[in-house]
Amino acid sequence: MPALEQLVVDIATAMAERTARGRVADYIPELAKVSPAHFGLVVATADGHEVVAGDADTRFSIQSISKLFALVEALSRDADAVWRRVGREPSGSAFNSIVQLEAERGRPRNPFINAGALAVTDLIAQDDDPRAGAGAILRLVRRLAGDDSIAIDSAVAYSEAATGHRNAALAHFMKAEATIDGPVEQTLSTYFHQCAIAMSCRQLARAGRFLVHGGRDPASGEAVISAERARRINALMLTCGHYDASGEFAFRVGLPGKSGVGGGILAIAPGRASIAVWSPGLSAQGNSLLGTEALEMLAHGMGWNVFNPDPAP
Ligand code: GLN
Repeated sequence: MPALEQLVVDIATAMAERTARGRVADYIPELAKVSPAHFGLVVATADGHEVVAGDADTRFSIQSISKLFALVEALSRDADAVWRRVGREPSGSAFNSIVQLEAERGRPRNPFINAGALAVTDLIAQDDDPRAGAGAILRLVRRLAGDDSIAIDSAVAYSEAATGHRNAALAHFMKAEATIDGPVEQTLSTYFHQCAIAMSCRQLARAGRFLVHGGRDPASGEAVISAERARRINALMLTCGHYDASGEFAFRVGLPGKSGVGGGILAIAPGRASIAVWSPGLSAQGNSLLGTEALEMLAHGMGWNVFNPDPAP
């Protein structure tokens, strides 16, 4: 695919020249140590090619991208329980907002804001072993990426556990409203560990392939989830994957995507490609600034758009 290869090189070259790179997240002290100079991009195409540029194999903290994998795990265990707890509407609020949760009596708008993700993770954390929940999410990610070297960065998990008071506030409030069942400390610890999974763009792009192929992992041929569930997860990524910038992302990029404050974004061009991009500097809404711009250039250049796909050049 020479057009795609050239485009990926052009995007990486353009991003390397940018001086305004956004702000690295510093509310988790360990993330503040990451240089904003990084940029990585991997496109895993439906026909099995991987087109890469920049820091494609450098591992970074996936943070909220883990909410996608936690949702897949929880839906596989008990989908009705998930949808009793959380809604499917965009929040229009910051990822860690508290005010909407109280106004709506402890029911989070969707599984991708922090409150919703904590409620989903609580379903997985119900186990005697406090490490089991994050372990289950890690095992899923390893299976999807076909890579057992993927691991949790415990320094990042502890760094967030020491400072994650907003998440603790959300979790305690939901415990009071009976949205969360388990011991709050266990749910929080599981959540901080899942967010601290470290992956490269290459590993992340591989882990997203099942959403390109209607829920089927092209490497193993295994149906990870049903085609209907894959469609619905893509819909949630499109409408809720970038918090209060989800509309802007749909407008500019036009693909389902899930961001994390580590600066990664996983985007899905259904039937075409799984795309992972990483640039640690964030926008005011907490989404990768250059990552979004790179995806906009890629989606536009390839005609990859879920609303009105153009023929590939
Ligand atoms: N662990 C982060 C938090 O809860 C994840 C947020 C994000 O990536 N948007 O604050």
